[in-house]
Amino acid sequence: MKTPVIDISECVLCDICVELCPDIFIKNQAGYIEVSDSFPEIIDKYLNEDTFTSLDADGCEKELLIKRLEEDINDVIKSCIGGCISWGEKTQTDNI
Ligand code: SF4
Repeated sequence: MKTPVIDISECVLCDICVELCPDIFIKNQAGYIEVSDSFPEIIDKYLNEDTFTSLDADGCEKELLIKRLEEDINDVIKSCIGGCISWGEKTQTDNI
């Protein structure tokens, strides 16, 4: 599963990612930035909100939502002062 990943060793804790995309980038209790969820979990969350209850039978809105989230994250990647956010793959072992 494609997901944003953070090289925490390069992060300067500017909080731009959290301000631009707070559903995806969060500051944990230790004060470090992390990715909050995988895409499916985030999409499910959005789909349960009022604005996304009218899904087309072919899932068209879901594809638009995924594209919008990817564009939002690409904007964060461009804005990241540390240059430490990139796209990676989420594996099942990430949840263990
Ligand atoms: S935008 Fe980049 S450098 Fe700034 S807090 Fe987020 S990950 Fe760290």
